[in-house]
Amino acid sequence: MIMQGKRGVVLGIANKKSIAYGIAKACREQGAELAITYLNERFEKKLAPIAKELGCEERLYPCDVSNPEEIITLRKSLEDDFGEIDFIVHSIAFAPKEGLSGHFSDIPKDTFNVAMDISVYSLIELSRELKPILSNNSSILTLSYYGGVKYIPNYNLMGIAKSALEMSVKYLAEDLGRYGVRVNAISAGPIKTLAAAGIGDFSFMLKWNLAHSPIKRNVTIDEVGNSGMYLLSDLSSAVTGEIHYVDGGYNIMGMPAVEFDEDGKPHIAWNGES
Ligand code: NAP
Repeated sequence: MIMQGKRGVVLGIANKKSIAYGIAKACREQGAELAITYLNERFEKKLAPIAKELGCEERLYPCDVSNPEEIITLRKSLEDDFGEIDFIVHSIAFAPKEGLSGHFSDIPKDTFNVAMDISVYSLIELSRELKPILSNNSSILTLSYYGGVKYIPNYNLMGIAKSALEMSVKYLAEDLGRYGVRVNAISAGPIKTLAAAGIGDFSFMLKWNLAHSPIKRNVTIDEVGNSGMYLLSDLSSAVTGEIHYVDGGYNIMGMPAVEFDEDGKPHIAWNGES
């Protein structure tokens, strides 16, 4: 079992469609011991059955990452449970609705700051505050999207946040590498989750990815989960500061693949699924 003896915390499970759930499940199946967190009381009940399934009903903790005290309380709980931990999964993002559609230049400062605080600074703060309990062979993983590298319609403010998140991964990797802590991100293809539902015209993003990625389908949380488990495990012991794409190869495409009819009319390759 690849994760036997590893202990870690997973932040960002909202339900069984969450990417964090896919990662937690893959780690658990390979023998990891987990703790998971929820945002507020409203979600505690919803997460209880998932915690049970993941074998961590005793280790289900509140953590709103916008509240520094909750991060410190989380560290104390993890220290009581495990002493040291070997991995952190940061699968958290938030931007107010007005940051995810409309004109980019209209984004208000408050909206910008909230998104950067929850979606970017929280990775830096978690890494710093949990560092005293991270083992000297540990791994931190966060989740990004291609909209942090190139323009994607409606992704707007979250694109800026993901760009800053990806650079934070690299700076954290350098800063923490000397303590035996690796830091990586997975840039996942679009997946229908609660957070994704907030992005304007998300169903079009799914269709576009399906049509234009080399594998001609969308990715699943199980696939992101397996890749995440690899980055959290010793299989990736010399990998740090990386943005690892799990997007069916979409990011390598410089131009949509076009096929031509007999009469020379171009049309985009499409496998018929939606
Ligand atoms: P999700 O299931 O909705 O997960 C997002 C999580 O962030 C939720 O558990 C949410 O908690 C949590 N969260 C929001 N604000 C928080 C706060 N202040 N403190 C603590 N937790 C907070 O959606 P997801 O798609 O799996 O998103 C996970 C990560 O993957 C995000 O970083 C997202 O940007 C990234 N990603 C998603 C896609 C995609 O297409 N879905 C693609 C690439 C990257 P509540 O639900 O309790 O509010």
